[in-house]
Amino acid sequence: MNCQEARELMESVWDLPDEDPRRQRLNAHVNTCSACAAEYELWLQSLNMVHVLEEEDIPGIDSERINRNVMDRIYRDFPWLVEETSKSRAVSRVFRKRLTLWIAGFLALFVCSFIYFAVIESPAKPAPEAVATGIIPTGIADTGQSLTGKDYNIPKTNSGIIDPFVVGMSPTEPQYWMLLSLLSVGLAMYFLMRLNRVRR
Ligand SMILES: [Zn+2]
Repeated sequence: MNCQEARELMESVWDLPDEDPRRQRLNAHVNTCSACAAEYELWLQSLNMVHVLEEEDIPGIDSERINRNVMDRIYRDFPWLVEETSKSRAVSRVFRKRLTLWIAGFLALFVCSFIYFAVIESPAKPAPEAVATGIIPTGIADTGQSLTGKDYNIPKTNSGIIDPFVVGMSPTEPQYWMLLSLLSVGLAMYFLMRLNRVRR
């Protein structure tokens, strides 16, 4: 065995049993070579040091108990930390309650406006307009009524100009309330989800 082999063996020999032939060959080389003997001595010393450190590791003290003691100490010495935590929890609980109320209220609004839209609005279809003949009834001469105050139902003549497409969006329309309640419910759900994510 040469010195190179001996040094490589020194790194792995500690895992081998005492009667292993490689270990015995290493011992034989160390006894004859002073350079390898010095290195082997270093290895032995560092190994002993590791063993000593392992034995000095105090047994029986679990880190869980130490952690709990530290946390108890923190909560005793800095009580405002605990108050802050419970206060923010209470705030988020109140906020969550309000959001739930908000969702329930606007869902009810949506249902109401939908029912109104489906039941009341639909049958009230506009009566078909009179055929545009262009003939306007004349005044009645023998009744003594003047033309002023008598209103004519002038039918719309087809001039080729149509009204621009306007969606009926005013607070008097049930669609307005349906859309508003849907938007509000969506917003509230978004906030509720964000609140849940923050608390986790
Ligand atoms: Zn050697």
